[in-house]
Amino acid sequence: MTSVNVDTVKCACPDCVCVMPLQRAVMRGEKAYCCDECADGHQGHAGCGHAGCTCHG
Ligand SMILES: [Zn+2]
Ligand SMILES: [Zn+2]
Ligand SMILES: [Zn+2]
Repeated sequence: MTSVNVDTVKCACPDCVCVMPLQRAVMRGEKAYCCDECADGHQGHAGCGHAGCTCHG
């Protein structure tokens, strides 16, 4: 039996579907985001750029 025991978190951006390892997350307070764009609330309305993810604020 093999198990991959990596802590993953979903991006706290409500429209974002990205999941990433906790150690690679961008932390803002207690929330984890996949990238700076999400962490900043898509101020420039830029998407996070990940395939399959449509979030852009
Ligand atoms: Zn995303
Ligand atoms: Zn995100
Ligand atoms: Zn986002």
